[in-house]
Amino acid sequence: MSELILFWHRRDLRIDDNIGLAAARDRSPKVVGAFCLDPQILERDDVAPARVTYMIGCLQKLQQRYAEAGSQLLIVRDLPVHAIASLAENLKAKAVYWNRDVEPYAQQRDEAVSNALKEKGIEFSSFWDQLLNSPEQIHTGIGKVYTIYTPFWKNWRRKPKPAPVATLANAENLTAEEREWAGIIALPTAKDLGFIWENELLLPPGEKAAQDRLGLFVDRAIEAYQEQRDFPYMEGTSMLSAALKFGAIGIRRVWEASKEVYEQARSDRSSANIETWQKELAWREFYQHAMYHLPSLATAPYRPHFKNFPWENNEAHFQAWCEGKTGYPIVDAAMRQLNETGWMHNRCRMIAASFLVKDLMIDWQWGEKYFMQKLYDGDLSANNGGWQWTASSGMDAQPMRMMNPIAQTVKFDPEGEYIRQWIPELRSADPEALVAGYIREDLCAAVDYPQPIVDHKLRQREFKRRYKQQKQLFS
Ligand SMILES: Cc1cc2nc3c(=O)[nH]c(=O)nc-3n(C[C@H](O)[C@H](O)[C@H](O)COP(=O)(O)OP(=O)(O)OC[C@H]3O[C@@H](n4cnc5c(N)ncnc54)[C@H](O)[C@@H]3O)c2cc1C
Repeated sequence: MSELILFWHRRDLRIDDNIGLAAARDRSPKVVGAFCLDPQILERDDVAPARVTYMIGCLQKLQQRYAEAGSQLLIVRDLPVHAIASLAENLKAKAVYWNRDVEPYAQQRDEAVSNALKEKGIEFSSFWDQLLNSPEQIHTGIGKVYTIYTPFWKNWRRKPKPAPVATLANAENLTAEEREWAGIIALPTAKDLGFIWENELLLPPGEKAAQDRLGLFVDRAIEAYQEQRDFPYMEGTSMLSAALKFGAIGIRRVWEASKEVYEQARSDRSSANIETWQKELAWREFYQHAMYHLPSLATAPYRPHFKNFPWENNEAHFQAWCEGKTGYPIVDAAMRQLNETGWMHNRCRMIAASFLVKDLMIDWQWGEKYFMQKLYDGDLSANNGGWQWTASSGMDAQPMRMMNPIAQTVKFDPEGEYIRQWIPELRSADPEALVAGYIREDLCAAVDYPQPIVDHKLRQREFKRRYKQQKQLFS
């Protein structure tokens, strides 16, 4: 009889191009999948209903994919240290395999599971899968973690990238007796878990939808990516972030697709556009490497002068920001896009985040948490990196940036299309005035749209003053 290998899925909800799963299949034909609904994750106060809905959808698809491959994906619900170790023991698994993660909680969890397996005498193995180059492969000349993106990119791009690995196929299933193990549950819906998300997801869950989206993006938009990616009213980006967060698509497949289209590019312009997209994949890796090596980033600012920053933390202002009622249309449109779709365009993530921190002077960690409560692609490393970068507390070569919401609108939503899409009550406003941020008071009153809750110029000055003072304290 073949030995049984249990493959523990976490943020790799696919059977194609999955390093750990392929290794398990290489070792034995009897590979069974497992997913653990972990209360320590699901009961946190920053879990987005849209994200859980996408994840459960991916798990449904993954169960189908396992069935097609001849095996099964088992669902358990408890702390992984109990659930995974007991499952492996009850199934008499020879070994448990999984793919590694960079997040501090994941690392502690995996260590606890490794110890529990060791005690039971069950083998285990883990693999790097979610990154093209692992955090151990890339470091500065003196062996340190990169804290500035450009040198990271220059080094990262030169490193060889692995090719996709084979899809799980012709696996052996559990016997009827093995299947009777009581700890396995049916896959619940997101609603069963207490998460209600009624709106459509931008990208449907599962491997096929992610592969189709990648195909569409490389066929159409990638060659104009650099030119279009900053305009939030265009569909100029891949919208693959949730698929990459949950591993509905393998990063090697994504890289391979971008490389193929790069090799076929017919002009320098096309190549430059494609390379800009590859640089975004490198940003994803940059932040994950940073999180792996500097886990304190998850809870504290990278730059010391942001510790004890004199934030204003006005609750009413925070509420207005969350609801998209600040009186700054581009900020409000962005927040409403987030609330309604669980996704926000990258340019708008920067504008909305900058406004919260630098105009409202609210602690970036409040914003970081709110984004996690809403984003269906919410990812600790990318979200934390994005917030710290925007707040100027993080890894940015430029020490202080300030975004003017009006100047950003003029540049990136010059006709006010994005604003009108997300703030329907402003559709009748004069487009030029809308973009310039001068909406007539009587119109605002008639449609119940607020006047700006703060004055950008005054707030900019005040933020700079506090920033300078804080820097002096720490110099
Ligand atoms: C304040 C703030 C918060 C953010 N929070 C998240 C988050 O929780 N999850 C998340 O995946 N991204 C986050 N980002 C990064 C970025 O906004 C999204 O990855 C991007 O908008 C997703 O859209 P896309 O898939 O169409 O991206 P594309 O432009 O098509 O980029 C391709 C992929 O590259 C990665 N990527 C792109 N930009 C970045 C970046 N700046 N940092 C890290 N990875 C990047 C993503 O995986 C993305 O899917 C955040 C950015 C900011 C400024």
